[in-house]
Amino acid sequence: MEESRIKDYMWLLERAYMKVPPKAESEDLTIPELELIRVGDQTIIRNFREIAEKLKREPGILTRYLLRELNTGGSYDEGSGQLRVNMKVSRKPIEQLLRKFEKTYVRCPTCNSIDTRLVKRERTWILICEACGAEQTVKPI
Ligand SMILES: [Zn+2]
Repeated sequence: MEESRIKDYMWLLERAYMKVPPKAESEDLTIPELELIRVGDQTIIRNFREIAEKLKREPGILTRYLLRELNTGGSYDEGSGQLRVNMKVSRKPIEQLLRKFEKTYVRCPTCNSIDTRLVKRERTWILICEACGAEQTVKPI
């Protein structure tokens, strides 16, 4: 991180401390360990719904995000809560994508809280933080 960015970050942190109750700062989000099964050329994430719930997002949105990032097809099964991905993919890339999703679509960039909502206003997607009230435009999924 370059110095000006560190300063910006420190400033944001300070501002967050002033506005937000302390508990929001340290909120941790532990994504459940992936339960992966390979079936031929497909990969199934068995506990996909649980992961989406942990990230507090609709499984459909997380499905679209993952399939777009992996540049492949697949489908989410509502009944079983499993995601089927039409390619062989190992644990690590999926975990990295889930972390990226958390950073972009769940965690507030201002105060670091995960108490956020993702809303659509016309064609714009906005991450709204319930803890500090910050709004951040994010890339549509
Ligand atoms: Zn916030």
